[in-house]
Amino acid sequence: LEALDVEAIREEFPILEREFDGQQVVYLDNAATTQTPDPVVDAMSDYYREYNANIHRGIHHLSQEASIAYEEAHDRVADFIGADGREEVIFTKNTTESENLVAYAWGLNELEPGDRVVLTEMEHHASLVTWQQIGEQTGADVEYIRVDDDGRLDMDHARELIDDDAAIVSAVHVSNTLGTVNPVAELTELAHEHGALSFIDGAQAVPNRPVDVGEIDADFYAFSGHKMAGPTGIGVLYGKRDLLEEMDPYLYGGGMIRKVTFEESTWGDLPWKFEPGTPQIAEAVGLVAAIDWLEEIGMDRIQAHEEEIARYAYERLEAEGDVEIYGPEPGPDRGGLVSFNLEGVHAHDIASIMNDHTVAVRAGDHCTQPLHDRLGVAASTRASFYVYNTKDEVDKLVAALDDARQLFA
Ligand code: PMP
Repeated sequence: LEALDVEAIREEFPILEREFDGQQVVYLDNAATTQTPDPVVDAMSDYYREYNANIHRGIHHLSQEASIAYEEAHDRVADFIGADGREEVIFTKNTTESENLVAYAWGLNELEPGDRVVLTEMEHHASLVTWQQIGEQTGADVEYIRVDDDGRLDMDHARELIDDDAAIVSAVHVSNTLGTVNPVAELTELAHEHGALSFIDGAQAVPNRPVDVGEIDADFYAFSGHKMAGPTGIGVLYGKRDLLEEMDPYLYGGGMIRKVTFEESTWGDLPWKFEPGTPQIAEAVGLVAAIDWLEEIGMDRIQAHEEEIARYAYERLEAEGDVEIYGPEPGPDRGGLVSFNLEGVHAHDIASIMNDHTVAVRAGDHCTQPLHDRLGVAASTRASFYVYNTKDEVDKLVAALDDARQLFA
């Protein structure tokens, strides 16, 4: 694979030039949200300047242009993730809403006492809290596949939990805390062997590796635009067409109906059945621009770049001797982020010292509180990388640790 021209890529992100106290920002908080390149900003700006209108095919020209752009955005996403057409692509607000859509529209109706919802100990609160609530409301049990001491799923435990009582398995594709890349096709196969569905949280996978939902055979797959060089306010729920056909809507209103009388209503076609009200039109346009931009670079090259930076960060941090790193060693089952703790120093103090050096990292539980309990720590510091990051920036992160030691350790 040809290496990325990172300098050329960085030129499309004016925000990376920003300085605070005379120091250029080092942005290592990409698992929270990525920065947005000029072509994405331009596409959204063109939309507002040139064809802003409500969709659903108003008779006038502007509405027709906006409708076509919005509808075709579904086709572009379907093509990007290997879905079988726009009917399988629902636009939501984010990954969290995609989780809630399935939990409410499918889970609340289908789950009964005695059913098992199988999660993993490394789930993000987006799925963990949601399924916990659905469990409480339906009487279904929620159980968690254990994470071993290397930060990988205990697949023997997975085989124990995914039996004929399992109704759905919801697993994170790439952990936003451990960086672990989970065997999601294998988990899906296990689920299907026992008549259960699979929901894969791809929030940290779609931005930085080729993903084909057909290869995984997932029933549902979710991700967010703002973590893949796209805008905030738009997420995706992929679902297999026959399942989505059977499911009732989760939200009701205009734009999703076929016929309404004072007594009753019937639902429109997929995917509109799940997209009531005025949707994220500008954001859909931005998401398409982001996908075009990513594919032009190449998802495999993006993955290779990120893994190289993450490996470098892992090795440099490990060489420090007093840094504990969570998750698997660099390799095929580790993605582009590193969560760690410096001996004797609180994660928030690290993040604050990093900020003094204009290094942007995240400290806290990263919406995985139970996983942090499992790791035996309250918080960690996370550096997460994207297509524009360099080894030089990793060096700045590591250099800032000296200050943290002097001040706090
Ligand atoms: N799942 C994972 C693995 C994530 O990293 C995140 C974002 N931190 C989410 C879900 C939730 O994404 P959003 O906030 O866009 O809904």
